[in-house]
Amino acid sequence: MSTTFDVINPATEKLVTTLQEADSAQTDEIIAKAAKAFLTWKKVSPGDRANLLRRFSAVVTAHREELAQLEITNSGHTRGNALWEADNVANVLNYYAGAPERLFGKQIPVAGGVDITFKEPIGVVGIIVPWNFPMPIASWGFAAALAAGNTVVLKPAELTPMTAVRLAELALLAGIPEGVLNVIVGKGSVVGARFVSNPTVRKISFTGSTSVGKSIMAGCADQVKRVTLELGGKSANVIFADSDIDRAAAAAPGAVFDNSGQDCCARSRILVQKSVFDRFMAGFEKGVKEYRVEDPNLDSSQMGPLVSKKQLETVQSFLNDKDDTVAFTGSAPTGAGYWMPPTVLLPKSVNARTWQEEIFGPVVSVLPFEDEAEAIALANASDYGLSGSIWTNDLGRAMRVSRAIESGNLSVNSHSSVRFWTPFGGFKQSGLGRALGPDALDAYTETKNVFFATE
Ligand code: NAD
Repeated sequence: MSTTFDVINPATEKLVTTLQEADSAQTDEIIAKAAKAFLTWKKVSPGDRANLLRRFSAVVTAHREELAQLEITNSGHTRGNALWEADNVANVLNYYAGAPERLFGKQIPVAGGVDITFKEPIGVVGIIVPWNFPMPIASWGFAAALAAGNTVVLKPAELTPMTAVRLAELALLAGIPEGVLNVIVGKGSVVGARFVSNPTVRKISFTGSTSVGKSIMAGCADQVKRVTLELGGKSANVIFADSDIDRAAAAAPGAVFDNSGQDCCARSRILVQKSVFDRFMAGFEKGVKEYRVEDPNLDSSQMGPLVSKKQLETVQSFLNDKDDTVAFTGSAPTGAGYWMPPTVLLPKSVNARTWQEEIFGPVVSVLPFEDEAEAIALANASDYGLSGSIWTNDLGRAMRVSRAIESGNLSVNSHSSVRFWTPFGGFKQSGLGRALGPDALDAYTETKNVFFATE
């Protein structure tokens, strides 16, 4: 029997809508539908599949305002971010529309025949999405999966299902056949868990917390099910004395407080070389105080509310720690909504919980370091390795430190966001496999080797 759940606007705490959540049997039915659609979708010619993905991209662009509005209302994302996110879906679809005609195999020299490799689709792919970037993360999975000839069952996070549901409708509008992209709203422990246990789902692409990711990986082991994991982070923003300190300080608030800090790539540990610590902190404080935390519908808004009451409480629970002092905070609205000001902490040591754990909210910790060796050691003293930034004007140091930091995505003298045409993923407990760019197609195909005897 299906149950319902409420979707709440985090900026106002008002009810947005009530949705049905699928149970295990309904999940199985949709997985069976995706398996049936796979039989025809994998045979759609590369050119036709490319055209359908391009049409899907164009339909998303035509609905960007509507999609952005849904995300503002459902997730509290700022208008600027929500429009970027809708455009990101269109861009990712357009990028992977180039893939069906470029899924090259190899011809490998052999004696007595011809040897060719093929990139075969895997089958039904289960995509499990977190609540922090509902649109982009869904599309990073489904665009590459569909381009490679798979069909998809996708589960959005319980808190933020609205845009995923709409994207599945837009796919149909664009002419993607019924059953090819299926969105199933429901609990992780029911729908997501069924993706893992149902043998018809041949691959899981999971983005979310490291703890759930580990249980999914363990569940996949039972069937040797393919799995890609995009997990948590505690990324370092390393500022050397030889960098443009004013620029580094001005850029630091956006690098951690964008999306209210609910970003796996948030630079939530700032490391500053001792000799420029005070100068950096003065510039950083100015930037934090000016950071606009306000109604996400406003064009000027830089940060909205946190996604839910529970998330607000979790983040606030980090602030009562005796191992930190609060350096300064920004501002936030009062009244209805899950608001919190950007908060800057000075941990007493690297053992502070706030230095070690992913907070996933607008909280950042700052520590000084002596020299390059200490900066690298501190940056790497984490189970995570997703992202990070290095600020220096010394080219040799930029090269050395970016090679030494154990992380999947680094930027030098910038906090560049994820680019859809370059690979994205984590070292260590931040994940397994890569999304985006040319590499993602490997995650959605199997390599088949065929030898043709000619003698
Ligand atoms: P979460 O792990 O609680 O949930 C993620 C998804 O998994 C949701 O759809 C949830 O319903 C589902 N789920 C929960 N339990 C499940 C189970 N037992 N079986 C199958 N599915 C299950 O994470 P969240 O709180 O939604 O998102 C925040 C986390 O996601 C943070 O740790 C963040 O760093 C991480 N994240 C990582 C990336 C990345 O690319 N590396 C991107 C965004 C978010």
